[in-house]
Amino acid sequence: MGNKPVNRMLKLKDRPMGAVSSENFELFEEEVLDIEEGQMLIKVLYLSFDPTQRGWLNDIPSYMPPVQIGEVMRAGAVGQVVESRNKNFTEGDLVQGSFGWQEYVVTDGSSDFMPAQKIPEGIPPTSALSVFGVTGLTAYFGMLDIGKPQEGDTVLVSGAGGATGSVAGQIAKIKGASKIIGVAGGSDKCKWVVEEAGYDHCIDYKNENVGQKITELAPEGLNIYFDNVGGPILESSLACIAQKARVVLCGGISSGYSMKSLPPGPSTLMNLVIQRARMEGFIVIDYAERFPDAIIDLGRWVSEGKIVYREDIAEGLENCPETLGNLFKGKNLGKQLLKLADPV
Ligand code: NAP
Repeated sequence: MGNKPVNRMLKLKDRPMGAVSSENFELFEEEVLDIEEGQMLIKVLYLSFDPTQRGWLNDIPSYMPPVQIGEVMRAGAVGQVVESRNKNFTEGDLVQGSFGWQEYVVTDGSSDFMPAQKIPEGIPPTSALSVFGVTGLTAYFGMLDIGKPQEGDTVLVSGAGGATGSVAGQIAKIKGASKIIGVAGGSDKCKWVVEEAGYDHCIDYKNENVGQKITELAPEGLNIYFDNVGGPILESSLACIAQKARVVLCGGISSGYSMKSLPPGPSTLMNLVIQRARMEGFIVIDYAERFPDAIIDLGRWVSEGKIVYREDIAEGLENCPETLGNLFKGKNLGKQLLKLADPV
């Protein structure tokens, strides 16, 4: 008592209609609570930034309940156990879980979104949120279970400079796809996608005609389209699918996930009929039981140099709203994280 750390946290003040802003959140400071039997005190080290967090701010039914006004903003995170009365965790453990936009959390570890788990030995805390975290796992299950890459496939991935997209194409290549084409915003991102992430081509959707470029680069048609963005890029891609194509609906960030702009339906949808193709959405948390096996595969591919990944690390709790907003402006290359503290 007396020496208890002060927790700084960002709570939702009001719901944004369009882009998220720091005005929507309020900073609070409180002395951390005493832990009870079954609980632990965690110091939060890194926060994960995910486009879906913008969706959680809308008061509409979704796969997770909306964040309530006055609640600490929900976020995946990595932290270190400071004090524990939970038999599964001990002081010093590095753990990941749904710890939110705050510097400390008192928790029993349960969560519908991300229950607390120890980070396996040898995995750096940031990678636990990137290539071995939600986005790496989304790339893994979306590409393998829904996309089902085959030898010789031509694969298109949008959001290819981002955390999920950059990994998805590399997984298709590991499985024998012969041509991987990315779509990303700007020449610097496209350069990274080709030169570092090993894609065969990258279309700069901000400066090139996406439909025309796909036709030029893949006259044989797309066997897989892994869609992270929706909107006009989805529309152009559907026009270029091959027979029996698999369209993986991973996300639709181009809508902004706000209440203002629902994504339009693609006018090229009938091409699914003509090409006898399949389009399927998925939510990665449904695959939680298989995460440990997926992490083993991802770990092997990373150590063999077959998967290259990038992390973009912001700093400072007060910069959380802006950092979330930046995902929708394409300011990140690879996984967007924010550092709050170093591990002891
Ligand atoms: P990310 O790709 O690392 O970051 C978001 C990227 O989206 C930005 O860097 C930006 O790249 C691109 N973007 C933003 N606005 C755009 C627009 N109007 N048109 C085209 N591209 C735009 O984020 P992530 O966490 O890996 O998520 C990628 C997608 O996967 C999101 O749609 C997300 O909701 C979805 N997701 C789904 C699941 C699931 O379970 N289904 C799980 C995780 C993520 P540019 O510079 O290229 O524009």
